[in-house]
Amino acid sequence: MGRTTPPRPEPTTLTTADSESEDGKLVDWRVARHELQRLRREAARRRGQSPPEPSGSVESDPPTWAVAPATYPVDLDDGRIDPDAAKVVRRLIRHGYEAYLVGGCVRDLLLGRRPKDFDLATSGRPDAVRSLFRNSRIIGRRFRLVHVLFGAGKVIETATFRRSPSEESDRHGSSLLIRRDNVFGEAHEDAVRRDFTINGLFYDLERRRVLDWVGGMPDIKRRAIHTIGDPVVRFREDPVRILRAIKFCARLDLGIMPDVYDAIVQCRSSLQMAARPRLFEELTRLLRSGAAHRSIWLAFETGVLDVLLPELAAYLADSERNAVRVWRLLSAVDQQCGNAGEAADDTVLWTALLLEPMQDACAGRVDRAAAAIEFLEPVVDRLNVPRRISDSVRRIVALMPRLEAGRAGRFARTPLFPLAMEVIRLGRCARGAAPLPQPTQTAAGRLSTPATRRKRGRPRRRLPQG
Ligand code: ATP
Ligand code: MG
Repeated sequence: MGRTTPPRPEPTTLTTADSESEDGKLVDWRVARHELQRLRREAARRRGQSPPEPSGSVESDPPTWAVAPATYPVDLDDGRIDPDAAKVVRRLIRHGYEAYLVGGCVRDLLLGRRPKDFDLATSGRPDAVRSLFRNSRIIGRRFRLVHVLFGAGKVIETATFRRSPSEESDRHGSSLLIRRDNVFGEAHEDAVRRDFTINGLFYDLERRRVLDWVGGMPDIKRRAIHTIGDPVVRFREDPVRILRAIKFCARLDLGIMPDVYDAIVQCRSSLQMAARPRLFEELTRLLRSGAAHRSIWLAFETGVLDVLLPELAAYLADSERNAVRVWRLLSAVDQQCGNAGEAADDTVLWTALLLEPMQDACAGRVDRAAAAIEFLEPVVDRLNVPRRISDSVRRIVALMPRLEAGRAGRFARTPLFPLAMEVIRLGRCARGAAPLPQPTQTAAGRLSTPATRRKRGRPRRRLPQG
């Protein structure tokens, strides 16, 4: 695939609800209708009750947009669309707001996957949305969202359209780093503030079509990860997007466009500027994704791991044997996730990730606990690893030789014991493991096997063009 930016969709013609009145003047019927709906809502609020729900499905006017999207008729499988999310969308539309499925759920549905959650975007302001759903609450101080709550803990996150910060005050000093991201906007502004084109698509449930302001549909078709706008700018604005690119590439088996790959390599050190809890959270998501092996390998290959976990990067680069051990363990983590249908406990995941270099650091030390602490302290500082997890990782690794020899002693009665046993089981599975997964080839880029990486070669090259 070439390095050219994907072609942007041609804008479609604006639709209008205007029609001509008897005296030949244009009358905007839509405004009148929306005004009526607003008056009804206000009247209902004054009466202290929810506005009546129209029975049956009401055909609403199509919205008009200041910037028209490319539209794609798409018949998504209704069985895969959460009925409660659909209910929320329809009620918002009935009350005169624009409302769409957005982000990861649209991407996953288009890729034929079952979304893990459903997010909505709407023109309704948080208070207005809140007033439409008794089972809802407003969350967030920086940016207010509405959580509409359903049974079994289901949450449909409903966000008001917002736009990217443009003011100097929304950014950090003279850098591009975004500190505030909380200005309401319109649908097209909400689309372009998102990170990747595949995450910037809106699904219009009523008219069964995808609205695309960002060129996401062509990227879905070619299974390519492309930032919305210049990748260097977007990664400098929010370096955590680098980890998100790696996650989507690994988890969804997509290719990274070569210019995006280059930008990851170029911008990797800005990850040091990101909020540390977000780094921990995103790394944990990589481990939970069912594609931990590919995620961490890609992080290693791009040099991202040298920034976030230099201890592990150095261990991987030291010898082929080391690297194979780590990759096998991570493959076992993925296999276990696939078999169980859910990821292991975070403590198990982090222990599996750090086990080999930590064992190496503890080898030959009389006080293994002290060696484990020395290893973990800088990691905890850099990534804000919660003490609950770092303490557990430390204890499991320090006790590993005794546990493997079946001498758990009193530790066997602690809640940590089953997690330690899980790590040992993964280790055994990795040692007797089947060959490493085959290299993955994708539409937009090619990945080689972990074993083919150069030793400590910097900077790493972008993916060969495929
Ligand atoms: P997942 O399936 O892992 O939840 P997701 O794409 O839904 O993937 P979320 O973190 O749930 O990821 O975010 C929802 C949407 O919000 C994304 O699809 C994207 O459009 C937008 N988004 C999330 N994080 C960022 C970010 N750092 N910068 C810009 N947009 C973002
Ligand atoms: Mg999501």
